[in-house]
Amino acid sequence: MKPIKNRVFCRDCGKAKMLFEDEKKANTFIKFNSKEILLNNGYSPCKSYFCIYCNGWHVSSKISKKNNISHTEKVIKLYNNQKIREQKVKQDRKEAKLQNLKYLTESLDQIDGIINKIKILIENKEFDYCIPLIDFVSNELSENESNPSLKKRRNSLIETIQKLKVDIINNLTGV
Ligand SMILES: [Zn+2]
Repeated sequence: MKPIKNRVFCRDCGKAKMLFEDEKKANTFIKFNSKEILLNNGYSPCKSYFCIYCNGWHVSSKISKKNNISHTEKVIKLYNNQKIREQKVKQDRKEAKLQNLKYLTESLDQIDGIINKIKILIENKEFDYCIPLIDFVSNELSENESNPSLKKRRNSLIETIQKLKVDIINNLTGV
């Protein structure tokens, strides 16, 4: 087999390369031609390797280091790393959302507790304490950025507060 045959331009290494369909053919080529090539060129192919870009085997005179990664493999690796990074960002966003939901739920729990205190205060006719507490929970609820899954609970709390306000006004005006 003459080296001039089965030459391709390998876009992985950016050079014209011989291409063999399998390892055996590449090694056979080395076995029978390396002496002649060495005499002609001063160097000769000494190893074969699989090129994922050409989907075939090349021969090389360079003694490779271990873990010699082709350009194409590097690109695939970079692409995979990028994908992993994107997944991480997605995961972080998901966790932030869950964290936010937890915080909002706790805040609504706290508001629930305060509303119960207000109800007791109303029963005891201690309206002076009720008003600042109602202001506080109203503010909390308006700042409590609405999360779709908490909307129902939030709206029900707003309704309860409205009723409590009416209760207090009725009590104060003696209705
Ligand atoms: Zn190649």
